[in-house]
Formats: sequence, structure tokens, C-alpha cells
Amino acid sequence: MATRWITTVSEMKAFRAETSKSLALVPTMGALHEGHLSLVRRAKMQCGVIVVSIFVNPTQFGPTEDFARYPRSPEKDLELLRSLGVDVVFAPPGTEIYPAGFAAFVDPGPVATVFEGAIRPGHFRGVATVVLKLFNIVRPDIAFFGQKDFQQVVVIRRLVEDLNLPVRIVVCPIVREADGLAKSSRNVYLNAEDRKAALLLSRSLKRAEEMAQAGEGDAQKLLEEIRKTFDAEPRAQLDYAAIVNPATLQPAAQLIPGSVALVAARLGTVRLIDNLIFGPQGSTPDLKLQLALTTQPTNEGEQRNS
Ligand code: AMP
Repeated sequence: MATRWITTVSEMKAFRAETSKSLALVPTMGALHEGHLSLVRRAKMQCGVIVVSIFVNPTQFGPTEDFARYPRSPEKDLELLRSLGVDVVFAPPGTEIYPAGFAAFVDPGPVATVFEGAIRPGHFRGVATVVLKLFNIVRPDIAFFGQKDFQQVVVIRRLVEDLNLPVRIVVCPIVREADGLAKSSRNVYLNAEDRKAALLLSRSLKRAEEMAQAGEGDAQKLLEEIRKTFDAEPRAQLDYAAIVNPATLQPAAQLIPGSVALVAARLGTVRLIDNLIFGPQGSTPDLKLQLALTTQPTNEGEQRNS
């Protein structure tokens, strides 16, 4: 079947209404790379019909952020998705999702106010709102998200649970460049020097993982090591480094399997994020994800969020 390019909510709903097979949704903002494509491949293994949405969502960008210059490559994206046998690319214009008079938003609660939410106020309100709209328009059985945006996964899982949304969320591991940098549409903004310095994010996480595997379970010690790595590189400004309970995003005092280290840093004007799930030595990325996504909301080692 040829890949259909759909731009209106009514046509998307009509397509959905005619489909009886299990349907997967992969929400994206386009400028597709291997990270996005890994989600599509997973989706193909689990569902009969694949819908990929491409929508650079204005409500999740702050007024001084990069909405206008966010990379867009619709022709190339369509080509890639066609080659993977995607059934529908849903690429609505802004006015289709936010027509005149649009006013209702979703408040995703406390997990949306820390880390990315603290630095980008309103970001997750925009994310949760557009994802809920996409779920209502496309009505997927399963929706696929990347671990790359770990806090986003936590926000979406809360949204689905708290609002009883009839969709299953599948989370896929981070796809990296050969040197370790997490793939991101924003990597194209990096100049050669900053591209080199950007390796600090993955390298500092890797270092923490090595320490953990050598027996260090004290989150503060691991964080000190991560911060030290950043102190040595003046091109990179660390926005935050934290080790958290994956369900609540509350800081953890002691590592448990499934604890997550989150880092965000700026290189010039480019903001990058990365994360790492701690797991038993030799555990696969999927097992680590499973550990993180089944960790209970509270544990004894947890600190109060100051
Ligand atoms: P975006 O287009 O940045 O909104 O990303 C769309 C989806 O792709 C999100 O669920 C992201 O978490 C996921 N994604 C982005 N980069 C990667 C990556 N390097 N590895 C795995 N998933 C990713």
C-alpha cells in the first residue's frame, strides 16, 4: 500500500474509522533520523497499520525558543517513511490542530514542573495537550516514544494513566551516533567544536555507569563525577544533572536498578539532553527500560526535592 500524506483532522479520522487492524502512532516533529526510524521499526513489529505524525508543535516552545528555525525536511521525511512502508504520514498545519478560539490545555502535574519543565515553563503542558489531541484524532492502540526524552515519557505515562486513555505506551531505547552522542534533530545546529564538546553528555553518563558497575551506589558521588566532567569543558554549560526515581522524577539518594541519570547542557545556543538507566551489569537497553518503567513511585532512599 502506498504511503498516504494526510494533512486534515477529518481525513485522518476517516482513515482511522475505516481501519480494523491494530494501529500504531509514532508522534514526531519531523527532521527524521535513525532514532525516529527505530520507533517506526518497533511499531511495525507490533501493529498492522502505522501512522507517523509530523507536527512541530508551537505550544511546546517558549517565546524565545527555536520554533521558527526548528529543522524541517518534509520531502526527505516522506521518502524515509515510504521506504519503511509506513501507511500514513499525518502532517497537519498549525491551524488544523490549533484553530481560532482554541483554549483548552492539559495540566500534566508535578512531573512536568521539574528539570525540562523548570527550564522550559509550559513545555510539557504543550506536549501533553498535543499528544492527547493526536491520540483523540488517530486513536492508536499503541503509541511509541523514545527514551531519549525520558521526562516526556514520564509525563505521557501519567497522562495515559490519570486520564484513563485507551492506548498502550511503548518506550524504545536511545539511538546514538557511533561516538555516543544521542541522535537528535537539534544536533545539526552544532558547529564542529561544539559537536566535539557535546560528547560530554554521553561520556559523563557512561562514566557514572562505570562507577555504578564498580559498586558506587551513592547518587551524590556519581553526580559529583558527572559535574566534574562538565567543569573541565568551558564550551558546555550544565543546566542540570540528577539521579532520580524513574516514576516520580524525585532525586534518589541511593541507586536502585532502574534509577535514571538525567543531564541537560547548553553548547552555545544549542540545548541537548541525555539520560542513562542504571541496571545490572550486561543488561540490555530494553531490560533497563523495563526496570525503569516498573519501578515503584516511592522508595526508602529517596530524598525530598529541595
Ligand atoms: P521529536 O521529533 O524530537 O519530538 O521526537 C519524536 C520521538 O522520537 C520522541 O518520542 C523521541 O523521544 C524519539 N527520539 C528522538 N531522538 C531519539 C533517539 N536518539 N533515540 C530514540 N528515540 C528518539
